[in-house]
Amino acid sequence: MKACVLDSPAPIETSPLRFRDVPRPETGVDQVLIRVNVCGVCRTDLHVVEGELPPRKSPVIPGHQVVGVIEAVGAAVSRFKPGARAGVAWLQSTDRTCEYCRSGRENLCDNAAFTGYTVDGGYAEYLAAHEQFVYALPEGFGDEHAAPLLCAGIIGFRSLRLSGIQPGQRLGFYGFGAAAHLAIQVARHWNVEVYVSTRDERHRNLALELGARWAGGTLDQPPVGLDAAIVFAPAGEIVPAALKALKKGGTVALAGIHMSPTPPLEYNLLYYEHVLRSVANNTREDGEQFLQVAAEIPIRTQVERFPLAEANRALDALKNDAIRGAAVLDVRGHGAGS
Ligand SMILES: [Zn+2]
Ligand SMILES: [Zn+2]
Repeated sequence: MKACVLDSPAPIETSPLRFRDVPRPETGVDQVLIRVNVCGVCRTDLHVVEGELPPRKSPVIPGHQVVGVIEAVGAAVSRFKPGARAGVAWLQSTDRTCEYCRSGRENLCDNAAFTGYTVDGGYAEYLAAHEQFVYALPEGFGDEHAAPLLCAGIIGFRSLRLSGIQPGQRLGFYGFGAAAHLAIQVARHWNVEVYVSTRDERHRNLALELGARWAGGTLDQPPVGLDAAIVFAPAGEIVPAALKALKKGGTVALAGIHMSPTPPLEYNLLYYEHVLRSVANNTREDGEQFLQVAAEIPIRTQVERFPLAEANRALDALKNDAIRGAAVLDVRGHGAGS
């Protein structure tokens, strides 16, 4: 099969992903083999490709917003049959036995596997996945519009929940990429006012189109105090600005898996019971709940398509804020039948 393979991390400008033939994955007894139609492009993929996340498997095929069709099932598989549409997200498996799994916090599992990082992902024509972690997808979404729901959507949803935001309150977003453009639709559905700070004018315009009350530059202070804020951009210098914008008792949630160092925090930024917390992975329950909400609203994903073979170009565009909404790789049209 054709795949985009990372042999060793390097800056995206050097095109570190190689489009080449690799063997189809083996399918375990509790796994399904999925023929990939579309794979979403996530900032985490960029962190993997550029080595900001330490390599856990090498070579590796990135990609963890996978939409495709079940091609074959292992002997112990009961939830899916060949021909069914299915989605695969970042959390690929857990041990189900550690203290975190046993307390409903499988997102923090000590022995989790991650799609496109510790195991091969969806920048490929086929991938194998554990059936208990595979999602059935709502019918109202075509493949390319369903793909960004699987990480951008789910992580944005978990970030909203962990921010503690309530209907009628004011919420800040810092950065306005794939996750934020979906999370704002959930926030508006919950009657939350959204204030967006982001460096790129195209992203500010998209935020206003999607119902933001105000949009300003990265470190611009919103015109009102915020009940909570979510930092989507991987830039630590934003954290003091986000804390400064909070009302008493407010929370800043950090949505990314990687962030540049934060500057020293003066205590007055944390005083008045401000909460600063990260968001790490997601549970399957987050995923199921988000997909249901996404179908109810219904969320509209804005996507830019790239051929699978041009994954480097898609990631470069993501790095340079040049994607409006979410980037997706069209896998079906490229290298099919090989
Ligand atoms: Zn565990
Ligand atoms: Zn992701």
